[in-house]
Amino acid sequence: MKQDFFKISDKVQSASEKAMAKIQPYFKETDEITEYNQQKVLSAFIKNGVSESMFAESTGYGYGDRGREVIDRVMADIMCTDDALVRHNFTCGTHTLAVCLFGMLRPGDVMLCVTGTPYDTIHSVIGINGKGDGSLVDYGVIYKQVDLKDNKPDLEAIREAVSKEKIKLVYIQRSRGYSLRPSLSCEEIGEIAKIVKANSDADIMVDNCYGEFTQTIEPTQVGADVIAGSLIKNAGGGIARTGGYVAGRADLVEKISYRLTTPGLGREVGATLGMSRELFMGIFASPHVVGEAIKTARFTAALFEELGFDTTPKSSDPRFDIVQSVMLENEANLIAFCQGLQKGAPIDSFVTPEPWDMPGYDNKVIMSAGAFTGGASIELSADAPLREPFAVWMQGGLNFHSAKVGILLAAEEMAKRGLI
Ligand SMILES: *Cc1c(COP(=O)(O)O)cnc(C)c1O
Repeated sequence: MKQDFFKISDKVQSASEKAMAKIQPYFKETDEITEYNQQKVLSAFIKNGVSESMFAESTGYGYGDRGREVIDRVMADIMCTDDALVRHNFTCGTHTLAVCLFGMLRPGDVMLCVTGTPYDTIHSVIGINGKGDGSLVDYGVIYKQVDLKDNKPDLEAIREAVSKEKIKLVYIQRSRGYSLRPSLSCEEIGEIAKIVKANSDADIMVDNCYGEFTQTIEPTQVGADVIAGSLIKNAGGGIARTGGYVAGRADLVEKISYRLTTPGLGREVGATLGMSRELFMGIFASPHVVGEAIKTARFTAALFEELGFDTTPKSSDPRFDIVQSVMLENEANLIAFCQGLQKGAPIDSFVTPEPWDMPGYDNKVIMSAGAFTGGASIELSADAPLREPFAVWMQGGLNFHSAKVGILLAAEEMAKRGLI
């Protein structure tokens, strides 16, 4: 259907049509994953008897809040774990991951990250580059790392590392973060878990940010003892305005709950302040919204391949997170992409993003986000650290049809500036 709400040049329009034709078969596969996960989530709601009364707000200590208790059960069932914590009190993904790590590790324990250098904001949590007062290292935790080999987990080196000394916690990052290595499938996480379990008694934690509902299984079904993620990414379905979740083995979730609040109080306190409805609704929406984000990512890859750029993952690759990187080759392209994308946002479309020194990141970053929820990257957004190889990382899209416009306007801005 011809539309003229947005002015798209013939060059970009024709690349878009070719891209759409190329990715049609993959949309069916995405729909199948969405349908499976949507049924999984619906059945967890029904099994746990979610009712409107659970949306009632608690205040003060929040003792005996039914919504808080039941949403934990729902998430535990979805993730096939003993237990879970779903809380608006987690301020972001980094905070959720930090609470897990501080909950599980004690002075003298060794934490081993087996997927190379972790996501930028986790560096200060661990104390990798000496920064960050009150980091894990500051508290006497010993941090070690197994680097990737050819951009993949080095299974032989992992086997050696866990065999040669006592490791308390093995840490796996599922999504690529600001790197260009492929995201890990649950099957690959399972292979790592098998090696770790066969050669040590370490607990396995997975940073599941951006990974939820991209496959029909989750890392907890292939050996992860604890997973965690953000509710303004996949698991909040674009509805939760803040928060995070943890799911895993009962004893570990209990320890984590003591760090979330205090030893002794744990999960028994925490006023929901009327947040329960949107957290339930967010989890309910999540499988579908993740499907829309995957379609958006695949379209982005196909469009920019048509325009002559390198992408990872490729438009035809399987997907284990919602992140798409496009190698835009130079700073001018990065800036045009992000500024063009912003023009297609439902909120703040008139704003012009500029590169800035963002707390927690080591380089200047330009970000495009025009979201209903501040910083929500399940909504269409893009980030580009201004460093080699000038890749933009984009993710999200509450619905494919509107997100597609954002991507087209990103390409259009590059065309307008004579860059493509
Ligand atoms: C987003 C992300 C985080 C941190 O989440 P924030 O909500 O931004 O604090 C951690 N790990 C990975 C892989 C991520 O994508």
